[in-house]
Amino acid sequence: MSKLSVIVPCYNEEENVAYFYDELMKQDAFFRDQGLELEILYINDGSRDGTVAEVKKLHEKDERVHLVSFSRNFGKEAAMYAGLEQADGDYVAIMDVDLQDPPALLPEMYRYIKEGYDSVATRRVTRKGEPPVRSFFARKFYWLMRKISRTEIMDGARDYRLMTRQMAEAVLSMQEYNRFTKGIYGWVGFETKWLEYENIERVKGETKWNFWKLFLYSLEGITAFSTMPLMFASFMGVLFCVLAFALIIFTIVRKLIFGDPVSGWPSLVCIISLVSGVQLFCLGIVGQYLAKTYMEVKKRPIFIIKERI
Ligand code: UDP
Ligand code: MG
Repeated sequence: MSKLSVIVPCYNEEENVAYFYDELMKQDAFFRDQGLELEILYINDGSRDGTVAEVKKLHEKDERVHLVSFSRNFGKEAAMYAGLEQADGDYVAIMDVDLQDPPALLPEMYRYIKEGYDSVATRRVTRKGEPPVRSFFARKFYWLMRKISRTEIMDGARDYRLMTRQMAEAVLSMQEYNRFTKGIYGWVGFETKWLEYENIERVKGETKWNFWKLFLYSLEGITAFSTMPLMFASFMGVLFCVLAFALIIFTIVRKLIFGDPVSGWPSLVCIISLVSGVQLFCLGIVGQYLAKTYMEVKKRPIFIIKERI
């Protein structure tokens, strides 16, 4: 008998825990038909509400439900990593608890795995219900990533994915602290089937992401999977050297031929502000990579478990 582990990261989701379980159980007959043993791992990412109590209630009812509880909020990336590490199924699925990742897709996903795919991933083709500004920047982010990174990162990709144990192990072998799983999946390779669906809005509660958090997360993605910004810094340096050199020649020639020394400070002020702006910007880019490197070098654990059931 094979085993399917369903990993569900939860952060303040008391009202969704049981609801998710009920929806997932609608597929239970399918799992049984396929001879699939089920294991549901709720990863409590330091919730401050009744999430843990809700999961414990489910565990009493159904012992296939397990809980892994963090000592504080470590973020969804850490929760997914912990889930992969704690799960021991032959197949592993990661799903949001807010039902934006429909469990009804699982049978189709499983069929593709049986056909020989190593993983079945999902992407949303619409962004209905999302603030337009966020959608705009999200699209721009994926566009930029395609340009500056060699790792494939799919536009609209969700974290909802079913994969084989082999691929899960590959993802686990990437032990970086600054995690950007969407890039990690592309990096490890394997044969992936993409399923598309229209965006589904979360059933209850609020999204945990605001614009600023998403912005920082996108920087994570860029620094983790591209060194192009560093190239950009060098490129700007060369460009400004060339410009400065041309200006020097121009000024000397003008003085020698026309006897006209450069006058006025406005041009000087403009040049100095521009150049120092570019300098600081480039320094900031280097700083970003340095900061990420600093955090990696510390080798801190990705998460800390407080309780396990
Ligand atoms: N989540 C988490 N830790 C966090 C933030 C979110 O485990 O720090 C979980 C959350 O409970 C949910 C999933 O990650 O199951 C997706 O979160 P959310 O729905 O807020 O994100 P969105 O769908 O809006 O991108
Ligand atoms: Mg959601």
